[in-house]
Amino acid sequence: MSQSKDFLRIKVEEDLKSGKYKEIITRFPPEPNGFPHIGHAKSIFINFGIARDYNGHCNLRMDDTNPTKEDTKYVEALKDAVLWLGYDWGDNIHFTSDYFPKIYDYAVQLIKMGKAYVDSLTEEQIREYRGTVKEAGKRSEYANRTIEENLDLLERMKNGEFKDGEHVLRAKIDMSAANMKMRDPLLYRIRHAHHFRTGDDWCIYPMYDFAHCLSDYIEGVSHSICTLEFENNRDIYDWVLDELELKLPRPYQSEFARLGINYTVMSKRKLLELVQEEKVSGWDDPRMPTIAGYKRRGYTKESILNFCEQIGIAKANSMVDVSQLEFCIRDDLNKKVPRVMCVLDPLKVTIENYEGSEEIDASYYPHDVPKEGSRKIPFSKEIYIEREDFMENPPKGYFRLTPNQPVRLRHGFIISCKEVIKDENGNILEIKAEYYPNSKSGSDTSGIKVKSAIQWLSAKEAKKVEIRLYDRLFKSEAPQGLEDINPDSLKIIKNALVEPAVIDDKIDERFQFERQGYFYVDPVDSSEENPVFNRIVGLKDSWAKKTKTVKPQAKETKETKKQTAKTQVIGTEEAMNNEQKELFDTYTKELGLNTEVSNILARDEALSSFYQDCLNLLKSPISLANMVVNEVARELKEKEIAQLKFTANDIVELVKLIDDGIISSKIAKEVFEELAKNGKSPKQIVEEKGLIQISDPEVISPIIDEVIAKNPDNVAKFKAGNTKLLGFFVGQVLKTTGGKANPKVVNKLVAEKLK
Ligand code: ATP
Ligand code: MG
Repeated sequence: MSQSKDFLRIKVEEDLKSGKYKEIITRFPPEPNGFPHIGHAKSIFINFGIARDYNGHCNLRMDDTNPTKEDTKYVEALKDAVLWLGYDWGDNIHFTSDYFPKIYDYAVQLIKMGKAYVDSLTEEQIREYRGTVKEAGKRSEYANRTIEENLDLLERMKNGEFKDGEHVLRAKIDMSAANMKMRDPLLYRIRHAHHFRTGDDWCIYPMYDFAHCLSDYIEGVSHSICTLEFENNRDIYDWVLDELELKLPRPYQSEFARLGINYTVMSKRKLLELVQEEKVSGWDDPRMPTIAGYKRRGYTKESILNFCEQIGIAKANSMVDVSQLEFCIRDDLNKKVPRVMCVLDPLKVTIENYEGSEEIDASYYPHDVPKEGSRKIPFSKEIYIEREDFMENPPKGYFRLTPNQPVRLRHGFIISCKEVIKDENGNILEIKAEYYPNSKSGSDTSGIKVKSAIQWLSAKEAKKVEIRLYDRLFKSEAPQGLEDINPDSLKIIKNALVEPAVIDDKIDERFQFERQGYFYVDPVDSSEENPVFNRIVGLKDSWAKKTKTVKPQAKETKETKKQTAKTQVIGTEEAMNNEQKELFDTYTKELGLNTEVSNILARDEALSSFYQDCLNLLKSPISLANMVVNEVARELKEKEIAQLKFTANDIVELVKLIDDGIISSKIAKEVFEELAKNGKSPKQIVEEKGLIQISDPEVISPIIDEVIAKNPDNVAKFKAGNTKLLGFFVGQVLKTTGGKANPKVVNKLVAEKLK
């Protein structure tokens, strides 16, 4: 039972206390027209949860009043979802269609009471007559039909004498009611369609507003809990039950806020579209927000229930950040699953001073997890490491293997790089390494300091697996349609490698692949010959950095803090994802940028896309990259692209001014400051401020002479061999000209004059 009571439970307790009901009976009433989603999980959690908390029961009711959209496969999916979440309806599974005869009798009764009539207006006329929020509606002339006429027409509607839309049954309430839903709502319509349960028995079907309250009543429901969009329907709910003067107790409706999650859609209609348009592999595609999708992806029921508990029950609709759900699954698995090693993009390492083989005993669980179990990790001369765990020219803060930096093999020895073997295109094929025999993890006496530990696998024993990396299905926070689908929501890696124990031991179906995330054996596609693992979730929230507007709502617990600290020791700087790696490679290999600049650009989506915009306009990759990384990046730290005063065009214009020798890069910084502040074009700024670069030796020469004359001591030192002082003179000249002198020209002239 939840610790703090929500408004629904408060009401339930009041009703029990006052004796209004003897037993609490709730119901979960989905329409079987699609697979249930995480929003339904919330409704299941509330309805079954309340029944459980107060020793009542919850009915599972299929609200099957729309024959054209419903199907038994959806009924099965709904049952699966409820069971998987750990709830049981016992004997209480019902179908609204089972009540069709009773509901029909109630309709007859309303007609007899003069409270319902058969209307024969067209659909369009009905809409017109209804009026607007500001204007009262007008009652149909057919409302004057006698009771006998109405009874006769309804009977003939039922017998199939009329076509779809020819007549409807309406409640006679109030055509000027402020609540538009009360303006003579429809109770029955004609639908000549085959129903998946009642077949062709019926060609009239009750509307939601008529069927729902009566089904609740028939089942003896006490609390009819639904989502806020039904708030206006409550008046009809009450009207029907009150007018029919039913024996008490009768149910009452209460509403709670619907669950919405960002980066996905949450309606069966929209989810059906994804399935039908084959944007996903089916209702249980691991990217779908369906319960079947989460289950197949590897989410545990505990994580879903915890999530439902955390978001609580409120009366106001709100959007929940998907990172909160991701937090819940991480939090659950962190304490449960074995940790093993996997290599997604293998790079061969040959340890030249190692011969033979051995097995390293390693626990599956970190010491703070109260679970036991260990496996043997084979070690040999030839191993694989993750390609991105080696860098020849590492940027600052890169703590993994480099030609000058040893690294620890997780659970194993420290190795250092001796040689890098490349193909004719400069691609790294293999690393020749050396290991330190006395550096084994747990008994290390080598005294060698390493900054991180990386995952690895013995080449001979490693097992090949397929890995499916999932990302959010939509790239925008509030997707409008299929065009917002994230094209990179699924990446398949065919030849990843895992420790043999993962396949042979079968200690669990879920694993933490260290530094990569949590993974689950795909229950549909995985086989002995081709093991397939789904990434359930990464180890850290990688989107929090990408999009500045989203703040995770989840509270950090002690466990997660510890977990983050731990992965940092192992992982240090977060590994680039494949997309970032590709960019990094393009920058270093094709555009000739240095690794530091490439690293910054590749890791920042906004920055790299801005850079690409610039590149499309001007083929000056290095100057542009410097400008983007040094200047634009600063602005983008505080602002979104749309808020910037300048565009890629302006940056290109600015870089052209440098490339053409019109301004120095120092002046360019000044121009950029102006540009960022007021958005004037760089050319205009240069002109207005008289910033044009001085390249004329005639102008520069006398300034150099002046500087030389003022600094006799330094001239003497320079001539005595302190050539570093060249920079001092150049600097002085640039300073005197306010940065306007062309540094190249100054350099050349100073060198000549000091000879
Ligand atoms: P959808 O628009 O996805 O088809 P629905 O409201 O039509 O949803 P039903 O299957 O008719 O779904 O509803 C079953 C129950 O689940 C209802 O009581 C409904 O209020 C609840 N429900 C549906 N969506 C959500 C949601 N996003 N959050 C909470 N409860 C929901
Ligand atoms: Mg619906």
